[in-house]
Amino acid sequence: MDTSGKVIKCRAAVAWEVGKPLSIEEVEVAPPRAHEVRVKIVATGICGTDDHVLKGSFPNIDYPVIPGHEGAGIVESIGEGVTGVKPGDKVIPLCLPQCGECSSCLNPDANCCLKTHLCEPQNLMPDKTSRFTCKGKQIHHFLWISTFSEYTVMPDSTIARIDAAAPLDKVCLLACGFSTGYGAAINTAKVKPGSTCAIFGLGGVGLSVVIGCKTAGASQIIGIDINKDKFTKAKEVGATECINPRDFRQPIQEVLTEMTGGGVDYSFEVVGDVDTMTAALASCHMGSGTCVVIGVPALGSHIPFDPMLLLTGRTWKGSILGGWKTKDSIPKLVSGYMEKKFNPDVLITHTLPFEKINEGFELLCAGKSICVRG
Ligand code: NAD
Ligand code: ZN
Ligand code: ZN
Repeated sequence: MDTSGKVIKCRAAVAWEVGKPLSIEEVEVAPPRAHEVRVKIVATGICGTDDHVLKGSFPNIDYPVIPGHEGAGIVESIGEGVTGVKPGDKVIPLCLPQCGECSSCLNPDANCCLKTHLCEPQNLMPDKTSRFTCKGKQIHHFLWISTFSEYTVMPDSTIARIDAAAPLDKVCLLACGFSTGYGAAINTAKVKPGSTCAIFGLGGVGLSVVIGCKTAGASQIIGIDINKDKFTKAKEVGATECINPRDFRQPIQEVLTEMTGGGVDYSFEVVGDVDTMTAALASCHMGSGTCVVIGVPALGSHIPFDPMLLLTGRTWKGSILGGWKTKDSIPKLVSGYMEKKFNPDVLITHTLPFEKINEGFELLCAGKSICVRG
């Protein structure tokens, strides 16, 4: 049935207000306007950031909202002026745009496009209207892509065409979690062969950092988590040892400094907690260590820290979506996946039907899952 130009009725998971579970609703999805694309979402992952949205700790969100930003799908129809994709193309929606025109996009060393949600909220399409309604109410978009809907509309700056042979239920992880962690090691830290690394937080993103450190040839990869159930998988993907901060009396930074004879070359914070951010900085080697912050902290967080940690030569960096320029890089990462250069499939612990999405969040929060998709 040709649906182009028509309103599509489908299921979506709506967050009506902060602190409430998602509710599966029938929504109406309007056709794409100029420079917009409507996509049938085939698979979506659940990332820690979606949980921040449900709990109200992600900045600039308007409720009700359809969250989700780790999806893959097929173009259903395109609006006027869209040239990069056509109906039937396999695509990955980009939670970080690459507009191609702003000072970040023009800088070869930057990837945080100025059209990002952190600069200007993406709760409505660029023309400041929504394509979603439910029970007569306007529903907001999330990061312009809202992948927790069977159909969704996005601007053409936030979509990348991928290999037609790519398995969408697997490559959806490349939309955020895997690319974020892997890129933080490869692009942001630029981990060197023979180096020592410490990864705080072994969820889907942290494990992807482990994979990146291993690929870069690090010789010592220390996984740190307060949930020891995460250790088996971490070792499977490349951690050489794993430790639980709660097993020690000393602060974890002292433990790591002793373990490595002065501190690690690279540390990564993949929890989203200000205390682990400072512990990760203090764990890296004086004079040469680099700490990369990846975790999203609670809204309005501030860090008191000893500036001597920096003065003595450590580097503190942040990384958004692994430093990748998304539109250029996500299709290349999909090709890398197809060529078996890395294997994020091992991160998928559960596959659920869409209507069980709340169960996916429960598994994530109970520490029982790494990546859930449906
Ligand atoms: P997750 O919840 O699956 O993993 C977090 C892990 O941290 C869990 O295993 C948990 O047990 C562990 N943890 C909690 N407290 C800890 C502590 N004090 N010390 C050590 N470990 C601790 O989440 P995820 O999906 O892997 O995402 C991780 C973080 O990365 C989130 O904050 C998410 O919002 C953020 N994120 C950032 C980007 C980016 O572009 N920078 C992209 C995706 C996700
Ligand atoms: Zn994410
Ligand atoms: Zn840009």
